[in-house]
Amino acid sequence: MKKSYHSTRSKDISVSASQGILQGLAPDGGLFVPDFIHQLKLSPDSFKGKTYGQMAKIIFGAFLNDFSQEQIDHAVQSAYYSGKFSKDEPVALKKVGDRYFLELFHGPTCAFKDMALTILPYLMTESMKITDHQKKIMILTATSGDTGKAALEGFADVADISILVFYPKDGVSTVQEKQMLTQAGKNTCVIGVDGNFDDTQNGVKEILNDAAIAKELDSDGMIFSSANSINIGRLLPQVVYYFYSYYKLLADGEIADGEKINFVVPTGNFGNILAGYYAQILGLPINKLICASNANNVLTDFFTSGSYDRNRDFYKTSSPSMDILISSNLERLLFDLYDGDTTAISDLMQSLKSQGSYRVSPAVMDKAAIFYGGYADEAETSMAIKSAFDDFNYLMDPHTAVADKVYADYVKASGDDSKTVILSTASPYKFGRSVYESIFGQSPEDDYAILDSLAQKTGTEIPLPLKDLATKDNKHQLQCGKNGMSQAVLEFSKQQVK
Ligand SMILES: *Cc1c(COP(=O)(O)O)cnc(C)c1O
Repeated sequence: MKKSYHSTRSKDISVSASQGILQGLAPDGGLFVPDFIHQLKLSPDSFKGKTYGQMAKIIFGAFLNDFSQEQIDHAVQSAYYSGKFSKDEPVALKKVGDRYFLELFHGPTCAFKDMALTILPYLMTESMKITDHQKKIMILTATSGDTGKAALEGFADVADISILVFYPKDGVSTVQEKQMLTQAGKNTCVIGVDGNFDDTQNGVKEILNDAAIAKELDSDGMIFSSANSINIGRLLPQVVYYFYSYYKLLADGEIADGEKINFVVPTGNFGNILAGYYAQILGLPINKLICASNANNVLTDFFTSGSYDRNRDFYKTSSPSMDILISSNLERLLFDLYDGDTTAISDLMQSLKSQGSYRVSPAVMDKAAIFYGGYADEAETSMAIKSAFDDFNYLMDPHTAVADKVYADYVKASGDDSKTVILSTASPYKFGRSVYESIFGQSPEDDYAILDSLAQKTGTEIPLPLKDLATKDNKHQLQCGKNGMSQAVLEFSKQQVK
């Protein structure tokens, strides 16, 4: 077994790709990183004229070095070409004015997390075979909306894995809650917690660190794992669509071979944009990676000043999946900027934990020059949605709109005219009210009716997974208090063993 991944905080903690996928987080709190990434150069010619799936197989083949090609092929085929996505290819690239949008929301839950969470269950199942894993797995997740549904949909009815999602009862949108409560699958469980997202997430962290619960679960033949975005099995699938965008533009004659392009990424936990950074290390010709934030602009400040500081007000915005003050995956970028110095990373993360901040020297920040950070506030986001619709008849969701506005600012500031791809991370219908009200003004309609109005007024269609949601039957009705979460986990595990 090749132990070619190790923790960002210690070289002594190393695992194989399959072990890393099953474990999620390293035991010292670090994130697993591939030792070999700078030695890995993928030949540009191998991507020319290929489908999304073929590109995915090349990239997974390079990173998942203890998987067989058959196992990789099976995972890619099952995730992306078995009817889970609404198009022939899982993603779509559209030209709108002077930029391109890569739509990553044609999967089962209409958000980009589907790109990774449709394939993660297959990667986990194969990892269990490779490591001869005898226990069943329980995926435990706290969600503020998007991740929970995408994980439920991905893991539903997967053998030997069950999934329990906790969400703050009054902290997700009507549509998001309904999406989760209507989830089918005997191995799924959804529970509303009487508390906010922090309470819910802290509850899950406590359970994952509770030895007594682990022991009891173990006696049921089960262990915990996580599906959150620090798992390498969630990061790697995201590398693929950077390659796909590039070679699709090349095939369409929009760029010349070797021409550098920009990517703009609406960013929260820094997973999506980190995958772009990895793509560039692998040899993809990228000019700038533009990191777009909303009013929670901690990353904008970081790229401008080298200082990361979470001690600031937290804003609830219309792009909730980016309402984050600690971007976990940034740790992997820092690891690379510090040339793999695990002691330096441990120190920075210790400082983040105790002071809520850390500072990176200008010399190190120079190595991050491929990044540009910018942000958009609520009014700017709303205006960007309206102009894209008024000018180009193109509908975009608030996360994508943040990216579009930051791109416009970047062009103004830099004069850079490189071809640019904006990653579009959610269907406009997933955030129907914000989109509708940005274009047409306030509406008294309820959250479902507003989707119908949006479709009618814009001549677009409600995506199938969101259509008729209001009339679907709920399959889950459990609720608990903050202190009842561990009991709920144990009850679900007993029920799954039967
Ligand atoms: C999760 C999410 C993001 C942020 O992605 P990160 O990988 O966390 O940076 C952006 N947009 C949407 C719609 C999301 O669901």
